[in-house]
Amino acid sequence: MTEPALLPDVRLRPAATPPPRDPRPGVSGLGGADVARLVAELGEPPFRGHQVADAVWRSGAAAWDDVTTLARPLRAALAERLRFDTIVGTTSRPADGGTTEKALHRLSDGRLVESVLMRYPGRADRRERNTLCLSSQAGCAVGCPFCATGELGFERDLEVAEIVDQARHARRRLAGDGRHLTNVVFMGMGEPLLNLDAVIAAAAALTDPERFGLGARHVTLSTSGVVPGIERLARLRPQWTLAISLHAARDPLRDLLVPLNRRWPVADVVAAAGAYARATGRRVSYEYVMIDGINDTPADADAVARLLGGSGAHVNCIPMNPVAHTPWQASPPGRVAAFAERLGAAGIGVTVRRNRGQEVGAACGQLAAEQAGEPPAPSVARRRERLVVESAAALQAARSGEAPPPDVRRARRGPGSR
Ligand code: SF4
Repeated sequence: MTEPALLPDVRLRPAATPPPRDPRPGVSGLGGADVARLVAELGEPPFRGHQVADAVWRSGAAAWDDVTTLARPLRAALAERLRFDTIVGTTSRPADGGTTEKALHRLSDGRLVESVLMRYPGRADRRERNTLCLSSQAGCAVGCPFCATGELGFERDLEVAEIVDQARHARRRLAGDGRHLTNVVFMGMGEPLLNLDAVIAAAAALTDPERFGLGARHVTLSTSGVVPGIERLARLRPQWTLAISLHAARDPLRDLLVPLNRRWPVADVVAAAGAYARATGRRVSYEYVMIDGINDTPADADAVARLLGGSGAHVNCIPMNPVAHTPWQASPPGRVAAFAERLGAAGIGVTVRRNRGQEVGAACGQLAAEQAGEPPAPSVARRRERLVVESAAALQAARSGEAPPPDVRRARRGPGSR
């Protein structure tokens, strides 16, 4: 089945007057029992429910009309009640020589959300992996200043099917190349644990052998630190990986980089994550976006080591993606390597991740922000100035008595200095 919505020249524009949201639920948000009940209500035998499930989860169909195993009147009756696909249009941009594909999806009410498909070819020591980073909300209320989605603000929570359908789209795209989706990470637009009912239902659908069928350990839920959500997950004991967006280990700086920290301080987040690790037996990973001169000093690394030492956690160091509304840049590669080395020397498991898809706006929310239109230059300038002032204050509070890293000292002394 071809993917009709994936035309590279399609440009998604925000509608001037957003259409009303389609009230019909998406079929991929329903469990098998719900589908069976609906099929029975329509006077159909139970095997029709299996045919619907096959069409939704195992075929390349993109619309009810493609499901030719069902008679036309039944397709019409289902279409009256359920959407086959909650994504009404997609435009995509390939990057990294075709190994990364960033997709911008339009929903029924005109909201735009992003997903990123990253292909990791197989090697002698590793099987091929195809990972989808998907969105759980349109926009985000958390407002991390290095994030393009945070700049957009919160629009709304996604429905279960709107989350799952991003994965169904990726599966169809990969199937065209004879490939499979192997991993899903909830690290796109939104804070997943602020839409937790839908995220749990979506992760359950993705890992249900009767539905999407991914292994539970191949799904990662990411959070910037919603402690009650982490505690709820710990009680559920899934085998999903939990990833914490850390970005700073000291509260004054983390208050700036992850504003949710003012509500749930970093020590509480790490304690809740530790409870999740004990309840599930799963190692927690910590994401650390590295920002030049902001959170990348040896003292920052030492603070991370103190915070996570002995927890068995793993840290992923990720150079920041450039985002227009901040005055910040990614830490230089040498500093990222030195930071990782210092964590490793302190006994913390660490990986340096490279950014994917920078030439197509890799930062979460960047494509949606582009489509929403550039904010006026004076407001961007004001925001950058405010961040400079706030980061100076946060750094002063976090770093009293701490020496800057050697390369920053050299830069301050001028070129050629040692
Ligand atoms: S980094 Fe994540 S939590 Fe922070 S604003 Fe962006 S989408 Fe929201």
